[in-house]
Parts: sequence; C-alpha cells; structure tokens
Amino acid sequence: MSIENTRPPHGGHSDQGITVLLRRMHDAVAREGSAQDRLDHLTKTIASHVVADVCSIYLRRPDDILELYSTEGLNREAVHRTRLGIGEGLVGLVAKNRRPLVTDDAPHHPAFAYRPETGEDPFSSFLGVPLIRSGKTLGVLVVQNRAARRYADEEVEAVQAVAALLAEIAASGELLSREETAVVGEMLHRPETLQGVPIVAGIASGSAVFLQPPAPKHKVFASDVGAEAARLEEGLTALRASVDAMLAENKSLTDVSRDVLEAYRLFAYDRGWKERLRAAVFSGLTAEAAVEQVKTENRTRLGQARDPYLRERMHDLDDLAHRLLRLLSGDKNGARRALGVDTVLVARVMGPAELLEYDRQNLKGLVLGEVSATSHVAIVARALKIPMVTGLGDKIDRCEEGDFVVIDGDRGEIHIRPTSDVIETFRSRRELLSERQAEFAKERALPTRTSDGADITVMINAGLVLDMPHLHETGASGVGLFRTELQFLIGNALPSVASQTALYREALDLADGKPIVFRTADIGGDKMAAYMERMSEGNPAMGWRGLRMAVDRPGMIRPQLRALLAAAADRDLHIMFPMVTLASEIDDARALMDREIERVQRRGDALPKRIFIGAMIETPAAAWHIGGLAGKVDFMSIGGNDLAQFYFAADRDSERVQRRYDPMNPGFLSFLKHAVTSAEAIGVAPSYCGEQAADPVTAAALIAVGLRGFSVPASSVGPFKRLIRSLNAAEAEAWLEQRFGEPADSLRDAFEAYLRQNGVLEASIGG
Ligand code: PEP
Ligand code: MG
Repeated sequence: MSIENTRPPHGGHSDQGITVLLRRMHDAVAREGSAQDRLDHLTKTIASHVVADVCSIYLRRPDDILELYSTEGLNREAVHRTRLGIGEGLVGLVAKNRRPLVTDDAPHHPAFAYRPETGEDPFSSFLGVPLIRSGKTLGVLVVQNRAARRYADEEVEAVQAVAALLAEIAASGELLSREETAVVGEMLHRPETLQGVPIVAGIASGSAVFLQPPAPKHKVFASDVGAEAARLEEGLTALRASVDAMLAENKSLTDVSRDVLEAYRLFAYDRGWKERLRAAVFSGLTAEAAVEQVKTENRTRLGQARDPYLRERMHDLDDLAHRLLRLLSGDKNGARRALGVDTVLVARVMGPAELLEYDRQNLKGLVLGEVSATSHVAIVARALKIPMVTGLGDKIDRCEEGDFVVIDGDRGEIHIRPTSDVIETFRSRRELLSERQAEFAKERALPTRTSDGADITVMINAGLVLDMPHLHETGASGVGLFRTELQFLIGNALPSVASQTALYREALDLADGKPIVFRTADIGGDKMAAYMERMSEGNPAMGWRGLRMAVDRPGMIRPQLRALLAAAADRDLHIMFPMVTLASEIDDARALMDREIERVQRRGDALPKRIFIGAMIETPAAAWHIGGLAGKVDFMSIGGNDLAQFYFAADRDSERVQRRYDPMNPGFLSFLKHAVTSAEAIGVAPSYCGEQAADPVTAAALIAVGLRGFSVPASSVGPFKRLIRSLNAAEAEAWLEQRFGEPADSLRDAFEAYLRQNGVLEASIGG
C-alpha cells in the first residue's frame, strides 16, 4: 500500500489527499442502490485511494461477533460469513485492544486466525484500525497488501482518519440499512458496567447530564457545501465572541479559570484549527461532522503525547469542540442548564465551586473522569453525601447524555443503561444501606474507647449549615473542622461580616454546646473564589494561600475574625489557622486576633467565654518542627490531605499520582508518629482531620501512631466508632512500630491482614 497524496489534515495545511478521499467517500454514501452496494463502493473507494490490495470492513454485532460486512480484495463469498470473536485473530485483537495493529507478516503473527473462505493467504502486510464511536468499538477497518512491508506512521494516521469517519457514518444511519443501523444503535446503547475508584459511598441513580453536554445528533454529509462552510464560519465567529465575552466578564465567572479561558482563546483563534475544519467541510462533511473529525484527529495525536501539558491541551481542544458543536446546534449561549429531577452529573474534571452551584435537590450522583479522593470537589461531595465515583478517564465517553445511570459509590462501579434486574438489586441494596445507617444511629451513644481502654474523640468535618444535623445523628462530639471557605466559594462576592456572623451563629446554635473548630478561610490552591482575580502562580497549592494570604492581606481575615468573635459571644470559640509553615505566622495571626478582640472591648460588646487558637499542621515544615509552636497554640490538627500532598510531592487533585502514594507508606506513618510525639512533648495532643481517616485501615494506623482525636466525614463516624471499639491500640502500635523501617511502599496489605485476624475490620464493615 502506498498512500499517495494522503495525509491527514494536520498542522494547519490543507491536505489534498484526505480531502479528495473524504469527497469520494461522500459520493459513495450518496449513491443510489442498496445499502450493501453503497458499502461495497465505499470499501472499493478506500482501497483504491490508499492503494491497498484489500480493504475490508468488519462490524461488531450485539453478540460481540465481528462480521465481515464488505470487502474489496478478499473473496466476496466470505461477506457476512466470516465471523470472529473479540480478541480472536488479528481483527479481533484490534477490536479488543482498541488500538491499530500493524504487521508485515500477518500469517505468522501469533494472533493470526486462518479463515479459508476469505482467500487471504497471499496478503502479508496487515493494518487494522478500530472503528470507535462514543468510546465503543463498533468494528474494524482493515487494509492488506501482498508485499511484505511495514506501514508508515502517516499511513496509519490516514487510515485512522478514515476509520473515525466510518464510525460516524455507521452510527448516523446514512450508509447502512435500517436493520443494520439498529444493530449499531443497540451496540451503542446496551448496558455497560464501568469500574472506577470509589470516592463517596452510597448508591445513586438518575439520568446522566454532562457538564459539557455533547452535541445533539447530526448528519455527516452536507447537501450544500457552500451553505455548510457559511454555517461553520458563523459557528466559529460565535465561538470566538463567546470566549471573548467570557474573558471580559472574568470577574463574575464561576466555572472556568482565567488560565483555561486564555488557552481557549488561543485555540479558538488558531488558524490551523480553522483551516482543518474548513478542509473537512469542503470535502463534503457537515460542519458538525468536521468538528468531530478534527477532534478525533487531535485526540489521536495528543492522546499519545507523553508530555502531560500536551495531554491537558487535549481537554481544552475537546471542550472548545463541544462548545462549537453546541453553537452549531442552535444553543446560542451554551449555558449551563438547570438540572432535571434525579440527575447524575458526568464530567472529566470539576472544581468545588462548580459543584456547589448545582441545585442539590436534584443532583443525586457524580461521575468524574480524573479527580482524586482528596480533591476539594470530592470533599464537598462527601459533605453533601453525594455518591461519587472517579478514575474513569476516557471511559466516561461511553455514557451518553440522558442515559439512565446507577452509581455504586461503595464499590466504585457505574452501571450505564442497566437492565431492570440490576436496578432492582440496587434498590434493595439502598434499603439495606439505610438500615445499616439506622444500626449505626442506635450505637451513637456508645463510648468511643478502644478495647484496651484508650479514649478517642470523634468529630465531624463540616462547612455548611446543612452538615450540622449530622452531629446529632452520628453522636459525634463536635465539629473538628469547619471549612469556612465554602461560604466564600459559593457566592458571587466576598461574604459580608453580617452574613458570616449569621452562618457561624447558626452553626453554633445547631451544635447545641458541642465545640466547633472554625478553620479560617483557606482560599487558594484549587479553592479560588470566582470573584477573586486569579493570581498567575505556577503552583497555587504551594503558593499564596491560607494563612500566608491572611497575614499579608488582613483585609479578608479581619472581617472573618470579627464575625467569629461576634457569633461566639458568651460561648467558647475555637479558631484554627490553615497552612501554618513557620511559628511567626501564628504570632502574626494572633496579633490580628488581638486587634479584633480590642475592638470588641472598645465597643463594649460581649466577648466569647474562652478563645482557643489552633494550628493546622499540613506542611512538612510545621510537622517536623512542631516544637517551634510551643506556647503559641492551644490545639493542633493534622491536615493529612495537604500534609500527604507535600510529603509525597504529589498533587492531591490528581488521581493519577494519588493512586501511587498510599498514606500507609511506612515513612509517612513514622513521620506522623514523630509529629504526634513532638506535639505531646510541648503539651498539645494533636488531632487528625485529613480525609484519609475515612478509610478503616488508615484510621486504625492513625490510632496506632498515637493520634487520639479525629475529625472525619459524617458518613464515616458510625463505622469508625465500631472500629475503635474493636481495636487494641497498644497492640496495633507495637505491630506498626516494628515495621516502620521496612522497605515496603505500603503496609496496607499486611496491616489489613493483621486487622482482619483480630476481627477489627469485620466489626467496622460487616456490623
Ligand atoms: C487537609 O489538608 O487535610 C485538610 C483537612 O484541609 P483541606 O482538605 O480543606 O485542605
Ligand atoms: Mg488543607
């Protein structure tokens, strides 16, 4: 095969070859005649254009058999007779791996499966490319040549471009007969189960809504190329205008960061992109099909890039393509829609503020492609008890807008378009779960003491008034971490002193005498409020955030301290500062606090009965040198989410790196042990408020390193208390201490086995 003149339209130059081929494919599809005639003509067109001896199209049937639908070059009697299973033969292997397969010696390839009826014996070279649509393999396009030769990269890319278009055509109904289109439709819409990573436990179901909804169905080939080119031009103009408008209104934007918008803008104005879209339209595609085609090419190229920056840019390009598709479909603003009843939100990535903007009544579950358990969106979802599964990557494409979806947040499974028996199973499991919650509720008054008599304090993490009833439902002894920044992230402007006071007062009233540790607003990192000018910092998580920002620019923290003092008048007030790195930062924070206290005194207003000041230990600098805080704080809480992020130098928002580094790492556990012992040496018993304590194995290890106070998500309190009652803390400590020096990456498996042997996990999980 030699692909003369044929290169995919990459790099901004309009490539003659592919344009000619697409036009010929258009003609083949538009011909009079039976569906089989048109398909055969198409196969012939591709074969002659790419100068191959053989071109064959295999389509996947609902029973997962790949059937030869059309061929140019193999025996015609084999059509509709030759069938291969997924994974069977070279064709089956392409479908299974969903990747192109190239060989110059097909008959001797280990996967080769001989089918005498095809007469393929003389063909040595083989190139098979999967036909993928909505993340599913619909079939395989194969080209073969007699001569033994290895196809060049650009030849493979060209055939991939053809395959992308073929998949579009197969799904659109423009080529196949009605029955065959129905077969493809069935393939695209059959039930599927995807395995992801469980983040927020619970079962939820509803219709899938995409944060970036895909474009509605559209035709592939245009009847009037001129009109189509004009539509594309209009769509691009509208797209550019909408991106410009978004940039102009940056201050009031709540969903996309300025950096991302700047990138959109560059891409939206990219001439190369426009030229490739135009080339595709001039070859006879509709504007929508051209956008899809160019998007697939970008994904093929950038998806293979090693550089994470380039891979990230793929999301930007995808996003831009989605916006353009929506504009082409007549959705003039592409705005976020209100949620219908029982919605499951599907997105590749999402920030915490975005989640908070949705109406919680109708939002039942979250399916995210690429965020981690300790990302802020996960924390917010946990606080709102919205079942969530992540780690699905590109597999989220298998789900389509409007599909019925069941989320199993305990096992990390997503069931797309489930059958009625699956739905029924989940309905009864949901009932069981609520029975289990009721069991935990019955135990809420039991003491939280280990089997060897160590008292553990269990509090909950909160951030919204909505969280407060959990305090009493779970029997937790207080709120160990109230994330005040959530109020800052929800609205469109900095919350006033009055509204902050009202929130804190209401929370304290609802706590009914139990303590609440108010953590001052930890803005920065991924928690940037929409109305704040985004600072261009390369590493915002390690940048100007938390206490650093507060002491440099007291304009935000002073009103907050004022509100806290007012809300806690005549009762106890616990204030904790985030991201403490140096002891002097606590001095600075205290000085600000003193000024606010003086202000209250000057005015003759009531002060809190007692004020306790705490430091959050979430930088290795603070954890390693806790002694430096001697005499400066009344309490400390280890923020394990950030501490682990900085200890492992692994972004807490990146699921990809998070799964590499387990907090059960012996080094990390011994580091925590050092922090706990050093804190005790200066007379402070630290507590722990990282999300890791929601995992029973890690929770037991944290007790074993000496921690006696915890703040966990409300849903974890019941199981955690059971775990505490069944754990012998001293024995677990002895077990762990002997293993701190082990070279293992993680002690999880061994410690889990130890806990099981001692009946600890059974008690907490099984009930
Ligand atoms: C932490 O870092 O562990 C923590 C509890 O704070 P946040 O997750 O809000 O950063
Ligand atoms: Mg933190």
